[in-house]
Amino acid sequence: MAICKYCGEDTDNMNHQLISIMPLISDSGEMTYEEIWECIVTKEKYKGKLSKQASEESKKSYKTRLTLYIAILRLILNKEDPEALKDKGISYLELGNFKLAIADFKQAKNFNPNDDELDLLLGKAYEQDGKSDLADEAFLTAVRKGNKEAKNILENKERLKSQSEQ
Ligand SMILES: [Zn+2]
Repeated sequence: MAICKYCGEDTDNMNHQLISIMPLISDSGEMTYEEIWECIVTKEKYKGKLSKQASEESKKSYKTRLTLYIAILRLILNKEDPEALKDKGISYLELGNFKLAIADFKQAKNFNPNDDELDLLLGKAYEQDGKSDLADEAFLTAVRKGNKEAKNILENKERLKSQSEQ
């Protein structure tokens, strides 16, 4: 563990988060990147790293944020990259930003309309955003494309509904 020079606490705790990555590309084509972190308590930014001793929660948050920023970089190169849009949407879903996740999944569907996983993910994002009808619609679209997980989710929802009506 390392001590934050701004707030005096462990930099591995959830008050310290990766907020951006800065790619460094040399003329010979080598690419590295620097991680920019923020001490949420003091709003100070610093070049950071997560240590191996960090909690599972911190590691998960770190991985989600890293995936998000790499997806954003990929979209700078090709803003119609459906896989990058999907990764970005999944990251937002994990970070609890459902509206941004919905926007990404919808956009990815424009470029890859046959991907049933996008309909499944869209359904999950709508569900978490409290839009159950739109979620059902998306799950149904996924089922029509052969997605089994969406089928299970819809069946479970039906079961819970009929139980609560009894
Ligand atoms: Zn701090």
